[in-house]
Amino acid sequence: MAKMYYNGDANEAYFNGKRVAVVGYGSQGHAHAQNLRDSGVEVVVGLRQGKSWEKAEQDGFEVKTVAEAVAASDVVMILLPDERQTAVYKNEIEPQLTGQALMFAHGFNVHFNQIVPPESCDVLLVAPKGPGHLVRRTYQEGAGVPALFAIHQDVSGTARDLALAYAKAIGALRAGALETTFKEETETDLFGEQAVLCGGLTSLVKAGFETLVEAGYQPELAYFETMHELKLIVDLMYEGGLEGMRYSISDTAQWGDFVSGPRVVNDQVKEEMKRVLTDIQEGTFAKGWIAENENNRPVFNRINEKENTHQIEEVGRELRKMMPFVNKQKQREVAASAK
Ligand code: NDP
Ligand code: MG
Ligand code: MG
Repeated sequence: MAKMYYNGDANEAYFNGKRVAVVGYGSQGHAHAQNLRDSGVEVVVGLRQGKSWEKAEQDGFEVKTVAEAVAASDVVMILLPDERQTAVYKNEIEPQLTGQALMFAHGFNVHFNQIVPPESCDVLLVAPKGPGHLVRRTYQEGAGVPALFAIHQDVSGTARDLALAYAKAIGALRAGALETTFKEETETDLFGEQAVLCGGLTSLVKAGFETLVEAGYQPELAYFETMHELKLIVDLMYEGGLEGMRYSISDTAQWGDFVSGPRVVNDQVKEEMKRVLTDIQEGTFAKGWIAENENNRPVFNRINEKENTHQIEEVGRELRKMMPFVNKQKQREVAASAK
């Protein structure tokens, strides 16, 4: 088994006398900034004027422009959207670099040479394997989201100490961290989200929903069957693997899983997955996504609009209104605003 790193592997004292600039206060940014602060690390948040700036201030952070935050820190964690990082890096971060360690939560821009950091600074990544809101929520619950870490440049000789201390401070070492490279993290992250977690899953759910509705079954029922119930199944897999999930379902469901699952996700699907992986490895996917952003996202916006009006979404929106308890985040926001 690969070596896993846990709390005991990190040097507690690493952040003494050091300040971390968290650049961006979105999904990952708010979670990293708050977890670091709760772990006793001095944090300054780097942003542009806008919604996130207000939110970070409301949450009690010192907020500065990106350039000011970078200039005033020892460690810079870049948590901007990947497609925005190159421009902000060039204009606001790079000119302020005087030996700060540069950190990322995803290797995309460094691996695909969109950002080429100076040879004089440490470059590393700590990538939580989960959405930012869970990085925060699990930390508050005394748990954590596992993470990957990788060292791209280690000029100071302490880049690994920083990676582990950072992973510990955001709660990731409670769950375990695994060492990787920028290349492996980038390629597997893109593949995971495209083939399984996001792309594979949304396509599977929609195909199942459409099959039932086209056969004349009620859309509401199809929604419960192919979308709502998914969480319950995934929770069981998260807790106990495939075996744990199969223990809880009926033997009829398990037999259907064995005989029909491989008919749906068959060898042809796996062949296509391999082609998706090749596109990622050869940089074709990255090139297309960078070009799409340079053109202001015509295809992205068109598909997004179409997807949001899919029948499963319209049915789901109505059904979820009657189940406010399914959205814990929203429930917390409503409770907080009522205080
Ligand atoms: P978000 O889109 O959630 O956050 C964007 C943040 O960046 C906002 O605070 C936004 O502020 C700010 N921002 C955008 N443009 C600028 C700018 N020009 N100058 C200053 N601030 C700006 O990003 P994510 O948290 O999703 O992603 C951050 C990184 O984490 C990425 O590298 C991603 O791959 C990685 N990651 C993300 C995961 C996730 O769960 N989302 C999981 C693991 C890794 P404003 O309000 O002003 O727009
Ligand atoms: Mg990911
Ligand atoms: Mg990703």
